[in-house]
Amino acid sequence: MLEKPLKCPNCGTHFFVDEVLNVQEHPKEAMPVECPNCHHIYEKRITNGYFMTFEDREHGKYDKQTGE
Ligand SMILES: [Zn+2]
Repeated sequence: MLEKPLKCPNCGTHFFVDEVLNVQEHPKEAMPVECPNCHHIYEKRITNGYFMTFEDREHGKYDKQTGE
């Protein structure tokens, strides 16, 4: 189950984060969660793997409307 989409504060792109945990013997460390559009580092999270991000196709590339 995916998390709710995040919104990049830099370019306004809505995107999902998918944690990839297939990395063997990878130390727990903070890995960047990057915007798939502009590669702004949204935040860093502790993980054994890394994070893939992809645009939220449902909401579109940019936030054109307010509210839900
Ligand atoms: Zn962005």
